[in-house]
Amino acid sequence: MPHPNDPKLRAFIDVAPDSDFPIQNLPYGVFSTAAYPAPRVGVAIGDQILDLAVMEKDGLIDLSPAFGVFAHSSINAFMALGPKVWSKTRARISELLRHDNPHLRDNKELRSRALVPMREAKLHLPVAVSGYTDFYSSKEHATNVGVMFRGKDNALQPNWLHMPIAYNGRASTVVVSGTTIRRPRGQLKPPNVEVPSFAPCKRLDFELEMGVVVGQSSPMGGMLSEKQAEEMIFGFVLLNDWSARDIQQWEYVPLGPFLAKAFATSISPWVVTREALEPFCVPGPEQNPTPLDYLRQTRPHNYDLELDVSLRAAQMKEPATICHTNFRYMYWSSVQQLMHHASSGCAMNVGDLLGSGTISGPEKHQRGSLLEISWNGSEPVELPGGIRRSFLEDGDSLVMRGWCQGDGYRVGFGEAEGTILPAE
Ligand code: MN
Repeated sequence: MPHPNDPKLRAFIDVAPDSDFPIQNLPYGVFSTAAYPAPRVGVAIGDQILDLAVMEKDGLIDLSPAFGVFAHSSINAFMALGPKVWSKTRARISELLRHDNPHLRDNKELRSRALVPMREAKLHLPVAVSGYTDFYSSKEHATNVGVMFRGKDNALQPNWLHMPIAYNGRASTVVVSGTTIRRPRGQLKPPNVEVPSFAPCKRLDFELEMGVVVGQSSPMGGMLSEKQAEEMIFGFVLLNDWSARDIQQWEYVPLGPFLAKAFATSISPWVVTREALEPFCVPGPEQNPTPLDYLRQTRPHNYDLELDVSLRAAQMKEPATICHTNFRYMYWSSVQQLMHHASSGCAMNVGDLLGSGTISGPEKHQRGSLLEISWNGSEPVELPGGIRRSFLEDGDSLVMRGWCQGDGYRVGFGEAEGTILPAE
């Protein structure tokens, strides 16, 4: 049987060459329909969703002794079954969708129950998020922010090159793409003012990130090898770590971000598996100094993954691209982040979400936040129609996209969108 990543595979469903969801992808999500409102697990194929709960019920996917894990409102129960089951299931789904397999292709009755047009489905948060940790692993981003606030000579803090820096975020406000984002309120104290006030954020920003979905747990007190960490990673989503820069600036000393990043985090609805991304694995930047032993990696764990951010103000007809970069620039890989996270004895859980940190590249058009794009408000970005932005305004819609380009197909992530509503 061909490997599900084989570029020559074709589905019996028509998939456009620029579709994010060819048969080489098969990302997992949670959806519901008007006819059947219970959320369940499916995979995206072209502009359709294959209902895995139907496939399992009809005996076409056999997960015994586990049963019914796809009739859940998250992919957590499926993830808990482990990497061997993930791989086996993906191979089986690929086999069922192949153009030369008549089983589903020629069974009209089954097809009508198992395939749902994506436009008719409501997409839900795919993961019941156990914990959310946000890293700070792009050297270009950390350097840009450091230069802005501390000057060129002290841009990177002394610890930055020795470990993946992070803070513990909030799982309670991780939402799926399409969820509107209410402008947060908080304590603001601009440097030129004596006392703080409580008011709506005036410097609302996005952060372009990828999210790792952890699919296996690890015990309290344990550490993770490179292989163990890699095998715990189920897949990836696009992630927007919405940030209130003015709240952050006043609150973050000395314990780091708190409410400035706790009001919302948006993720894309489809979890692209680590296995589907394997053909796009590339080495990351050279790490100097050599990381300590517990952080060493013997294989590449970065991905050649194109990323694109566009912004549409309420009065604009079309969105305008404001950032185009690549996930491959990340200094610390997701595997290193996970090894570091567990290294003190911190237990990891099925459903943990790790934000990569803002992904910026070396070029100006590769900056992954408005803070960097507008250089802290001093160089507003020019949008069509004479619109300028230093930070996000009410009514702005922000869309992130990501994809790995194969030969004649792409393994894509769909989008992570959020529109800003005025503060209450
Ligand atoms: Mn972040």
